[in-house]
Amino acid sequence: MNGRWQGDAFLERCYEEAIRMHGLSASKQSRQESKEKLRRAFRDAIGEFESTPAHEPVLLERVECDGYIRERVELSATPGLSFAAYVLLPKGAGTPLPGVLALHGHGYGSREIVGLLPDGSPDEGKPGIHQHFAIQLVKRGLAVIAPDVIGFGERRLAADLKKKPDAPSSCEKLSTQLMMLGKTLTGLRVHEVRRALDYLISRPEVDGGRIGAMGFSGGALIANALSVLDERIGAMVLTGFPNTFKDSIFAVHHCIDNYTPGLLVHAELPELIGLFAPKPLFLESGYDDPIFPREGFLKAAEEVRAIYDREEAGDQLQTDLFPGVHEISGRHAYDWLKNVLFEGKGSAT
Ligand SMILES: [Zn+2]
Repeated sequence: MNGRWQGDAFLERCYEEAIRMHGLSASKQSRQESKEKLRRAFRDAIGEFESTPAHEPVLLERVECDGYIRERVELSATPGLSFAAYVLLPKGAGTPLPGVLALHGHGYGSREIVGLLPDGSPDEGKPGIHQHFAIQLVKRGLAVIAPDVIGFGERRLAADLKKKPDAPSSCEKLSTQLMMLGKTLTGLRVHEVRRALDYLISRPEVDGGRIGAMGFSGGALIANALSVLDERIGAMVLTGFPNTFKDSIFAVHHCIDNYTPGLLVHAELPELIGLFAPKPLFLESGYDDPIFPREGFLKAAEEVRAIYDREEAGDQLQTDLFPGVHEISGRHAYDWLKNVLFEGKGSAT
């Protein structure tokens, strides 16, 4: 009797209608026009934030590590709100170097990807699902910036921690209030990460013409949005995220920060990822990822492949469905990103 009142069929019809409209709208415009229109719609849907005027970054620490230097700097992107980011610089490398924005997903923040525990002490154990991926990148000779994404680790809200000291994140409180203001947490995160990118490029060690972005899970959502809206990103790795909305966030319970009001009217996720074409793109997913299932990954990869082929850039797209769950592999992606950025193919210009 569950289908008696036809709610499932209704939702399915709403979805199909939205998808049908994407095709209709795209068929009336040139590829370039429809990409520009979709970029604007994406930017409007996530919302924009006021920028902090020129702000002097504050160096919080500088530590000599094995093969690289790790700095922690304080930045601000929007008035009244500051954040920290780790900067990892390879030792003894010629400069300027290609740079990478490394974006973590749900967890305890940027420390989780630079080999540290939540309290800042070294993590000597086996890496978790983030695989200390910022270290993997700096060890390949890339300059890396890893900003603390708002809502996690040190950037959880005091109001949440007061109620529950081990609250995993502040995504819900941030997302709901921002949505009621016609903005989104994705929009705020993208705005902050863009400032981290400004800072990375301002560093004398970094070549602003060779910049990549790599994001895992919720960090891939931010990486994708930033990379298709900001021309400075020349190459992108999305891991634990590429999928269709239908097979992931509509089918499996996900954090509220994954949802952007009105976005499905304009695009399914593969169309948003495809906005990055024809630039170098690597899509990675675990074969047994329960929250971004492989069926959706394979559909998305096929659709993104069609977009790249249409733009005669099929050789710029790589995919890897690795044996694993919701985690980073990097077995091909790390070297791919290194090669693309060092050979200059990832240049935005
Ligand atoms: Zn969240």
